[in-house]
Amino acid sequence: MLAPGSTIGILGGGQLGRMLALAVAELGYRCHIFAPEADAPASEVAAFTTRAEYGDAAALKAFAAAVDVVTLEWENVDREAVRQLASDVPVHPGAHSLEVAQDRMAEKQFVEWLGGRTATWAQVDSREALDAAIAQVGLPAILKTRRFGYDGKGQARIMVAGDADAAWAAIGCQPAILEGFVNFAHEFSVILCRGQDGSIVDWPVPVNLHKGGILATSTLPPPALVRAQAAEAVQLARTVAEKLGHIGVLTAEFFACKDGPRFNEIAPRVHNSGHWTIEGSATSQFENHVRAVVGLPLRPTTLMSARIEMTNLIGDDVADWPRLMADPTAHVHLYGKAQSRAGRKMGHVTRLGK
Ligand code: AMP
Repeated sequence: MLAPGSTIGILGGGQLGRMLALAVAELGYRCHIFAPEADAPASEVAAFTTRAEYGDAAALKAFAAAVDVVTLEWENVDREAVRQLASDVPVHPGAHSLEVAQDRMAEKQFVEWLGGRTATWAQVDSREALDAAIAQVGLPAILKTRRFGYDGKGQARIMVAGDADAAWAAIGCQPAILEGFVNFAHEFSVILCRGQDGSIVDWPVPVNLHKGGILATSTLPPPALVRAQAAEAVQLARTVAEKLGHIGVLTAEFFACKDGPRFNEIAPRVHNSGHWTIEGSATSQFENHVRAVVGLPLRPTTLMSARIEMTNLIGDDVADWPRLMADPTAHVHLYGKAQSRAGRKMGHVTRLGK
């Protein structure tokens, strides 16, 4: 167990790192952000920052020497970099979690091996393989890059066979999977945290609404269909965390279909669909993640309200800040990003109660 005053290194400098850094400070630890970008939102609230590329071996070496443990807010960090870090300092979550979560195919195979159901899918390594995959999976379908996809990026829909050329070009002709279109009623996520002692806590499950592939709202309680499927999904997510030996928060996204939950993807980290836990739970996803990383016991995830809604502020939504700041029912979180762009997550608002 690391004592307060120790330094936690975080790979990634976005809003997830920012909210992690705030939780780090609250518990009396220090935070050191490692990120390539200037003006990283997390750096504004962290004690130290290293600005360097994730592949910069010398910078990683110095970072490892300056921190007591490393975690991450961005799972697409180069695996070599993580391996290098892990030879100098504990890294949570570890390489196994990253290897599975970074590759959509590995992720699907892993979850299927554990008995979970996914969309129908096929491997696509070439333009010819895409035709075979379409024949196997059927249309409509979604072509997704195996690596480096998030918020609907690296994806192209194929409605009719004539879309295949454009879809293959749109994802940059890279290794991919083709997923059959899931006819879901709702989307929901399981957010859990696994401690160093192997204990797991999970939060009540929100229903998530996406617009243009980006999360728009997370709401509790979810509709009856999701409530009926939550226990099965939570059990699967717990098994995933155990089999990965995962430490920290892990998020699993699901589609609620008429015939049961279908697994979509995991994120080996705190997640946008868990931001409501800051005000809506006895312990936030950020605090429990920090607790797991430093080896503290995890705290309970009891709901603070029967009804909770988190709304993302995306792009120009943030221009509404004067009204939101004046609304006594709104817990406003802004990420300190200087420029809003279409699709950019600028902040979020959580409301408890009716
Ligand atoms: P992902 O990056 O896989 O989470 O995809 C982003 C969003 O696209 C999801 O949250 C869904 O709204 C939608 N989506 C992804 N895969 C599928 C699928 N196989 N069938 C239907 N919708 C999907």
